[in-house]
Amino acid sequence: MTLSSASLSIKYGLRRAHPQRIWLRHRLERLERAEPERIKNFQERRLRHLVRVAAARSPFYRAYFRESGIAPASIRTLADLSRLPLISRHELAERGDDFRTLPRRLMWSVRSSGTSGVPIECYRTITSSVFELAVLEHQWGWFGLPPNSRRVVLRGNTFATGQNGRPTTRVRGARQLLVSSYYLTPDRLDAIVDDIRHFSPDAIEGWPSSIALLAALLRDRRLRIPVRAVITSSEVMTPGQRALIEEVFGAPVVDHYGQTERVAMAGICEAGGYHIFPAYGIVELLPVAGSSERWEIVGTSLQNCGFPLFRYRTGDEVVPAAPGPCPCGRTTPLLGVVDGRVEDTFTAADGRPLPLPSTIVDDLTGLREAQIAQMRPGVFELRVVPGNGFSEARTTAHARRNLARQFGPGQELRLRVFERLPRPPSGKLKTAVVEQTKPAEPWRLRPPTIPVERRQP
Ligand SMILES: [Zn+2]
Repeated sequence: MTLSSASLSIKYGLRRAHPQRIWLRHRLERLERAEPERIKNFQERRLRHLVRVAAARSPFYRAYFRESGIAPASIRTLADLSRLPLISRHELAERGDDFRTLPRRLMWSVRSSGTSGVPIECYRTITSSVFELAVLEHQWGWFGLPPNSRRVVLRGNTFATGQNGRPTTRVRGARQLLVSSYYLTPDRLDAIVDDIRHFSPDAIEGWPSSIALLAALLRDRRLRIPVRAVITSSEVMTPGQRALIEEVFGAPVVDHYGQTERVAMAGICEAGGYHIFPAYGIVELLPVAGSSERWEIVGTSLQNCGFPLFRYRTGDEVVPAAPGPCPCGRTTPLLGVVDGRVEDTFTAADGRPLPLPSTIVDDLTGLREAQIAQMRPGVFELRVVPGNGFSEARTTAHARRNLARQFGPGQELRLRVFERLPRPPSGKLKTAVVEQTKPAEPWRLRPPTIPVERRQP
């Protein structure tokens, strides 16, 4: 997902100004130490409401109730949930619009290819986005972060060109300073450090791989930027990345688990437990075939009335959570460690590292499957399976624009059309792959030889 700083400004401004925000946080505080029975009652009340809305206004669920003969009013408890069908990512990709209960123009739309090479489009009501922010701020509060915290945000190459060559940009109203991973190079470090210190952040937020890139540059110069917390999501963090990040920023890592589909969410507490937020969604665990130790997370959104998804298979797998209550004293259930996104970093034509390269294909449309492959540094192949409304010329042009915006000029991209993308022996399709036998040399070991003018269009 990529948004301009102007649209981010509007979006965050709306969410921050929303009258329900403070009330929602109080409610979350009460619920996190409630008896299990009260949590269950809360979820069932929300579930009944969402089922009523879906049965009346979502074409997908209207058809389901009509054809199955199941009365919507008979779905009353968590146990009744099993009478609703499991929804797969493929179903969402094919029939996304059929889940909506509101016109598109009343919601925010988000596209994502995730890790599985199947692009989807989801919709969010403003209220559900306000709730999402309230949950996050609630979790940050466990670590002493105030609401409206000032955050330095590193989510890949938010911008590589078109920002007057500045490595950072402020998002007015959101109290955020965006740092593009494109500029995480030794020659730009002084400017980035000046901007961050001037901004005076409470927290660093973003993808572990991008934050680790900045942390490595800072450590090489023996620099520290102390903050209160480092907020992460979307990616698995290696123990080495965690140690480096905690050392350089002198703060705990505050990780949370969620998805573009927003059907379930969990966040780490001070004692290291991943607490499920039960007001956000219902979590079911589905046994993974061939494994007694792994479970797939199936989520039911309890907040997004505009895009109801019941029993959505996230494709994310977990191992069981540690038994017993969490030492932090919260009563909300715990989620095991999520085996989430692990993606190879790509390398641009000039040798710079490009974290989470799958974001290149996130907003492409008319595709059933998509994969971006690095053939060698700076040379990429976009592999697609056409879907409704596919145009080879438009997809190529769109992907090249994304590539230039995020990776900078000088990259090559070609498009290859498939009937079905070739699967690796594991059968699990990945959105971004590096097709090379020799691992790329780490950026830090290379001299910064790129002439500055090449990166300033
Ligand atoms: Zn805990």
